[in-house]
Amino acid sequence: MLGLMQDQPLLISSLIDFAERHHGDGEIVSRRVEGDLHRYTWAGVATRARQVANALDAEKLGPSERVATLAWNGYRHLELYFGVSGSGRVLHTINPRLHPDQIAWIAGHAQDRLLCFDATFLPLVQAVHARCPTIARYVMLCDAGKLPADTGIPNLVAYEDWIGKQPSTYVWPQLDENSASSMCYTSGTTGHPKAALYSHRSTLLHAYAAALPDVMSMSARDSVLPVVPMFHVNAWGIPYSAALTGCKLVFPGGALDGKSVYELIEGERVTYAAGVPTVWQMLLAHMGPNELKFSSLRRTVIGGSACPPAMIDAFRDKYGVEVLHAWGMTEMSPLGTLCTLKNKQLQLPPEDQMKIRMKQGRAIFGVDMRIVGEDGKELPWDGKTYGDLQVRGPWIVKDYYKADGPPPLVDGWFPTGDVATIDADGFMQITDRSKDVIKSGGEWISSIDIENIAMGHPAVQMAACVGMKHPKWDERPLLVVVKRPGAQVTREELLAFYESKTAKWQVPDDVVFLDAIPLGATGKMLKTRLREQLKDYKLPTA
Ligand code: AMP
Repeated sequence: MLGLMQDQPLLISSLIDFAERHHGDGEIVSRRVEGDLHRYTWAGVATRARQVANALDAEKLGPSERVATLAWNGYRHLELYFGVSGSGRVLHTINPRLHPDQIAWIAGHAQDRLLCFDATFLPLVQAVHARCPTIARYVMLCDAGKLPADTGIPNLVAYEDWIGKQPSTYVWPQLDENSASSMCYTSGTTGHPKAALYSHRSTLLHAYAAALPDVMSMSARDSVLPVVPMFHVNAWGIPYSAALTGCKLVFPGGALDGKSVYELIEGERVTYAAGVPTVWQMLLAHMGPNELKFSSLRRTVIGGSACPPAMIDAFRDKYGVEVLHAWGMTEMSPLGTLCTLKNKQLQLPPEDQMKIRMKQGRAIFGVDMRIVGEDGKELPWDGKTYGDLQVRGPWIVKDYYKADGPPPLVDGWFPTGDVATIDADGFMQITDRSKDVIKSGGEWISSIDIENIAMGHPAVQMAACVGMKHPKWDERPLLVVVKRPGAQVTREELLAFYESKTAKWQVPDDVVFLDAIPLGATGKMLKTRLREQLKDYKLPTA
């Protein structure tokens, strides 16, 4: 017997319709590339998203054709999120930090038909457009009549001219909820990037789940600052969850330095912010010396890379802000786990709570996870046993778009490439990417643990731990450190800092000081490149 409930597809257009009808006066504030702050409401987003849809019809773009963006977090990008996907096209957000060769490659692979870009990225578009034969129209996200002269880019139009003449009424198509809605290429370190292709259904289910109290806890009473970029995994789905909950949205544009982000948080009474650790490091580095405090910020979600415990402490002890550690990946839309304590854990002493808070957290309903050994057998949830982390669920990829290899799933599970433990309460902790694990004398050393300890030293700005060949132990950990500007610390002082913080055999064998650690397009440390850089290095005992 089938249920007798209405069968309505889960569509992105319904999110913007809902936002317009139920919290049409909710505010959207954006720092523009031009430098000023732009303000309008969800009703404005909805009106202009319909104009975008009409503009795409005028371009004769068919269903599922790809519309690319190279853009910061801002109101026009938000309009494209709803106008492109809502009208049945696929929004392809491109990461502008990728190498131009990679951008040209993925625009060709995705067969993008139209590219919308912020003025900041004009030089990038000038560098790649000749290698993007499928793109027939370029739209610069700027005011009417503000296109620079002689850009050399064919079929270029200013966004406000492009949508300005379009009607603001549009009937959203009733799509199959499994239709593709957006896509994002992973920034893998080897081979060509691979595309996760999200659907309307996966996006809506993720939006519901992300808004839950033990996940991102977003509500109409919040003022939310997604520093996490809209050009990578849909800013962790925040634009969709925001339309669903009616929170105020605050967009930082390209100004991600500590001062600009702090001013935006204070000026817009931000209660809740989300971003990767490097951005928060810049913010804390600005606030400390200037003796600044937050007057409205209560919570921040930090993920994308392991959040150093010293950062969790600093936010809580100095600024009264709760840090929620999150884990996910492009292939997971991206949210997988979030670290919110259970009731019984709130009674624990602060040190024990801290041990839990630094974990990546427990699975969100919709994400099933497990750890397996080399033989593929499931390993126990005891908080100690390491294994390859696998996941499955309705917002996790089953394959890549136009994949050239075999489908990634193993017995229906997606192998994340992360190595993790899971404890009896279901809290997962990443110890490494599987290719970064350090194997010393038959035991594994977690590079993240070693980095976290170093990050607790006041002179350390960034730390990476890599395994170096060793004649006796197979591999031994080497610590690579970037010092804070003006700070002094020696190799011996840093190694002494590990005493009583970890087992003796896990203490790095040596420390190398560098001016910078190579970072990838999403701000993660590129250990492959770091290892190349260190190829002539020899451990003292080796
Ligand atoms: P991406 O697909 O570029 O978002 O990268 C996903 C990968 O980032 C994951 O597979 C993890 O290796 C890493 N990652 C994401 N969040 C965290 C976190 N909180 N702690 C440690 N690693 C993380």
